[in-house]
Amino acid sequence: QAKERDGNNFQFFSSEMNIKVLERMMLENSMRKALEREDFFLLYQPQVDTRTGEIKGLEALLRWRHPDMGVIVPDKFIYLAEETGLIIPIGEWVLRTACFQAKAWQQQGFAPMRMAVNLSAKQFGQKNLDETIAAILLESGLDADRLELEITESTIMKNPDSNTRMLQKLKDMGISLAIDDFGTGYSSLSYLKHFPINRLKIDRMFVRDIANNPDDAAIVEIIISMAHTLKLSVTAEGVETRPLMEFLASRNCVEMQGYLFSRPVTAEEITTILGNGLKY
Ligand code: C2E
Ligand code: MG
Ligand code: MG
Ligand code: MG
Repeated sequence: QAKERDGNNFQFFSSEMNIKVLERMMLENSMRKALEREDFFLLYQPQVDTRTGEIKGLEALLRWRHPDMGVIVPDKFIYLAEETGLIIPIGEWVLRTACFQAKAWQQQGFAPMRMAVNLSAKQFGQKNLDETIAAILLESGLDADRLELEITESTIMKNPDSNTRMLQKLKDMGISLAIDDFGTGYSSLSYLKHFPINRLKIDRMFVRDIANNPDDAAIVEIIISMAHTLKLSVTAEGVETRPLMEFLASRNCVEMQGYLFSRPVTAEEITTILGNGLKY
């Protein structure tokens, strides 16, 4: 475009920008191929009832095995998948894979647990999301109440009215709904009361600094008691140490997720963990 305006202006783009643009194009191209080539895979991270050590849920976390760049984490490519719309087919693949895996574990006789799947804003904005999910549940044979969807506050707040209607439809189907990264968004308390949700997930950022930062400790305590008041379940993310676990447990936060219990691991490793129990 710069060139069209002025024939001599091609250097308008710095070489650094050219590289960025090129990198982006390459990434987008290889992302398109990745779905066909089955270069995406899921890891699963346990969500633990710390009173009993039971695994109550597993969160599916997307990874991309890039042919040249190795394994890429979602923070590096989800934004581009969102911008290009590729998040729609990728997100469907995630939902389908996670639901089939959950059903497989159920058929192997493991204790009932939820499968938690992250949804991004663009996915959540699809008018027929409920139908897509209903079809995937039917196809996989997974009961709706075994599926939990994780959505951030900012995703809901992009379009609070229509998104609340979609949340209600999903909830009516029997699906469980969690607000992810809670505390980092900007939803007001009055909205929170009206969202038809089941769970708050306390963001890792607050949990991480509980020991050194009294403000963060206070915020976490407030979120836990707010969840209890609103009759919502609460899960703390990013629990890496035993003292953190003990602090949270003493404040009546029962469910936790984090490296203390397990990093996100492959389905095979989860099968072993389900057989032997968690050690932490
Ligand atoms: P999230 O949903 O908040 O997931 C939790 C993230 O925290 C994961 O990063 C997990 O690996 C990491 N984590 C868990 N426990 C600990 C801990 O104790 N310490 C530390 N330092 N980190 C911990 P991951 O897998 O890189 O995913 C990052 C984000 O990408 C997710 O945040 C989620 O927002 C998004 N994401 C992941 N999978 C999907 C997907 O299938 N679809 C969509 N739309 N987004 C996804
Ligand atoms: Mg999540
Ligand atoms: Mg989170
Ligand atoms: Mg996050």
